[in-house]
Amino acid sequence: MEKAIFLLPNKIKKPVFTDTVKRIVLWDIVIFFLLFITSNIFTIVITNKILTDNLDERLKNEVATLLDSFTVQADSIKFLGYSEIKEPDFTTVNSGAFFLQVYGVKGKLLLSSDNIKSFEAIPFKFPFTSTQYEFENLAAGNHQLRVVYAPMLNDKNKIVAYLQLSVFRTEYSSVMKKIILFNLLNLPFILALIIVVSIFLAKKSYSPLNKIISIAENISANNLNARIKYEAHPEDELGRLRDTLNNLFTRLEVQINQISQFTDNASHQLMTPLTAVKTELEYILKHDRKPEEYKETLTLLNVQTDKMISIIKSLLIIAKYSGSTDNNQSVFMVSQVINDYIKPAFKEYNINYDIGDYLYVRGTAEGFQIVLENLIDNAIKYSPNNPGIAVTAKRYYDNIIISVEDYGYGISDEEKEKIFERFYRAASSIKENIKGYGLGLCLVKTIVQSMEGTIKVEDNIPAGTKFTVSFPTVKVV
Ligand code: ADP
Repeated sequence: MEKAIFLLPNKIKKPVFTDTVKRIVLWDIVIFFLLFITSNIFTIVITNKILTDNLDERLKNEVATLLDSFTVQADSIKFLGYSEIKEPDFTTVNSGAFFLQVYGVKGKLLLSSDNIKSFEAIPFKFPFTSTQYEFENLAAGNHQLRVVYAPMLNDKNKIVAYLQLSVFRTEYSSVMKKIILFNLLNLPFILALIIVVSIFLAKKSYSPLNKIISIAENISANNLNARIKYEAHPEDELGRLRDTLNNLFTRLEVQINQISQFTDNASHQLMTPLTAVKTELEYILKHDRKPEEYKETLTLLNVQTDKMISIIKSLLIIAKYSGSTDNNQSVFMVSQVINDYIKPAFKEYNINYDIGDYLYVRGTAEGFQIVLENLIDNAIKYSPNNPGIAVTAKRYYDNIIISVEDYGYGISDEEKEKIFERFYRAASSIKENIKGYGLGLCLVKTIVQSMEGTIKVEDNIPAGTKFTVSFPTVKVV
């Protein structure tokens, strides 16, 4: 019988830039812009501070020299150092020029350097009370100036006049402009670099994932029994992904095998009764028949239908229990199932029960009932003249042991290995014309295993067969 082939859709062409890569690149660009703006603000603030400090230092030094050129007596000041303000820095308007103005306390201009005449009017902040130097930025026409105010004190510490000294901030502005321009010009290159690096990093960090995906794709398409082999710690994200997918494949494989086995077996086994039905129908429909003949055919059809129902029922139960432990959420008491279902079902037979009390097993009572029914059914079927059957249930250490013994035909050692296989029937049962489909023991074994139990078969003494089922005990408090 051919296995079902599961076709998968053709491989979809993978885009170079997946949405995930695009998202990462976008995030990188946003983060980069925030960093760029923050670092620019930081650079401008720091540079501003350094340049202003430099200007202030220059102004302070010059003011100190100028103040030395004045003598202050009571309410009057005398300027001794005219040679000082005759230097080019005070007479011409160049980038290093100093602009000096001295005002009296009443706001009268007492002295100014020559270069002011050929420059703009420099506003004077007046009056101020601090006896310290005061610095500020000023605009004179289109020019940006850094200005210091120095109070001129007499020997009684009284302000007699104010000295104002100004310098250009042009150099400072050009440095700032250069920094900003430099950063703006570099921005497209840095941006391009960020995009390339982000794409590279995103691709690199997703490459193990892509590797796992392509192995998984391969497995689904070709062979379901293969597994993903990727070196990663089980707690690592990639290790967890590998294990999750592998577990999924195992479950899929089990289920697909079950489906295909079910289809194989069902179609194979149903073919015989269906062929019998078809032959019978063809025969009866060939001519007009007597009512008795129709009745005979219908009876035969009924027998064949029962056969098919029985086969399908068994196969469905096997499918339900194979590889599944989902039914183990509940617990039942062995003696209760035997008293309520088994004893009434086999009351016409000579069966000796020795059942311990309070023996609990994990699984479904329904499954356990099917197990016992099949074992007892077989014991009856394969024991001519019904010489007696014994069913016992007891605790043995950590297990609950249930056995079904008969004194019938027995099973040869060679056949003991095969009787649990699907549709296997011993030659003697076929020879003796004992009815059956070879599904009972397969069903029993499937259910027992689904309940985490084991089953074994041995010769009974002095004759016959003994089936022993063992389940882990459940402590019920
Ligand atoms: P079936 O009884 O429908 O043939 P089973 O799967 O229940 O199918 O059993 C498989 C085979 O094992 C039987 O055909 C029979 O030969 C053998 N067998 C099962 N139980 C017994 C038993 N108690 N004594 C002797 N043979 C048995």
